[in-house]
Amino acid sequence: MESTLEEIRQSEDNSVEPGITDRGMTEPIPIIRPNLPLWENVEKRLKKIYSSRMLTNHSTVSELESTVARYLEVDHVVALSCCTSGLMLAMKALGITGEVIVPSFTFSATGHAIYWAGAKPVFVDCNNRDWNISIESAIQASSEETSAILAVHIFGNPAPVAALEELAKELGVPLIFDAAHAFGGSVSGRMTGGFGDVEIFSLSPTKLITGGEGGLLTTNDSSLAEQIRYLRNYGNKGDYDCFLPGLNARMPEFNAALILEGLPLVAGEIAERERLASVYREELSGIPGIAFQEIPEGNQHTWKDLTVTIDPYIFGMDRDKLHTLLHEENIMTKKYFYPPLHKQSGYSELPQRSVKLTVTEWLSNNVLTLPLYSALGESGIRKISDVVKKIHSEIK
Ligand SMILES: *Cc1c(COP(=O)(O)O)cnc(C)c1O
Repeated sequence: MESTLEEIRQSEDNSVEPGITDRGMTEPIPIIRPNLPLWENVEKRLKKIYSSRMLTNHSTVSELESTVARYLEVDHVVALSCCTSGLMLAMKALGITGEVIVPSFTFSATGHAIYWAGAKPVFVDCNNRDWNISIESAIQASSEETSAILAVHIFGNPAPVAALEELAKELGVPLIFDAAHAFGGSVSGRMTGGFGDVEIFSLSPTKLITGGEGGLLTTNDSSLAEQIRYLRNYGNKGDYDCFLPGLNARMPEFNAALILEGLPLVAGEIAERERLASVYREELSGIPGIAFQEIPEGNQHTWKDLTVTIDPYIFGMDRDKLHTLLHEENIMTKKYFYPPLHKQSGYSELPQRSVKLTVTEWLSNNVLTLPLYSALGESGIRKISDVVKKIHSEIK
């Protein structure tokens, strides 16, 4: 018992630099390392839940919902099992059955949710500056059949919310944000969570704040929030005469406890990642062929991910090779997002509209996500950068 607790204490000591202390680069540097709250604080909450015997969708979940509503300055927050179920339920509740305009350059789940809701994804391009949905491409893809726009705040860099709200209004369709990456982000001082008709955050372990698993749906539409509350519980309003076939998409109390304790860490983690991202920029932007995601003025990026592009002709080596060589040096990287959705086997049957996905395809072939989290510290970022520089200098 004692040693188990001790192990837990050690594992949540966020001050330890993973794999890059005085041991040198002998241990892998993971791509992600969640900044977890103090075990003592989490333990107190877990004990209380455990002894109450109310393990799901109870008072810790409602405390989380009201705390997050204040934090994000949004009227309604509904806690869910994950972001994917939230996206599915939001689309069902909004009655979306036709075509959904969605960027192809995103994580699989964005498209999957449209499929499971019974609607049809129409993949559009992203722009080559901030890598978010291209408004021109969305306009091009819009038609009589368009029934919604589903945009993503890619890597935590908020999407062009004003232009999207205008387009959705013009088309007379709902606007949904897959905000999986964007907890703690903002646009001109307004937190993500309140844009469009509804936004859905993810709390899976690769995200900035995690509950192990979890999702948070945010909206200023009270009837939508009410419907989602029923739909996360099979669609049952209490009389077992379900108004819509819902899901079990409830958030367990234990997850809510972890998220509640994690909330106070979010702002600091973002600030630290922002500082470390600028160290990467300082170290790497001098290398020909490496480019960074642009951040539009007014955007607060969450730095869920730090993704760069490697232009193979200018850098002198392609992204895949760099990924392999970094792996050999024990530095874990990811190809976020490759392949793009329109190239995935599961979507091969989908008839494509004649929207060009040129930027998406180039990005997807050349992106590389580098480790970025507070535990790395400045020295961690400099060490990783040195390896990239060394690999580049040795290209013949
Ligand atoms: C992680 C992620 C999801 C899925 O979130 P879950 O909570 O795992 O369902 C959806 N969209 C994007 C963009 C993601 O990165």
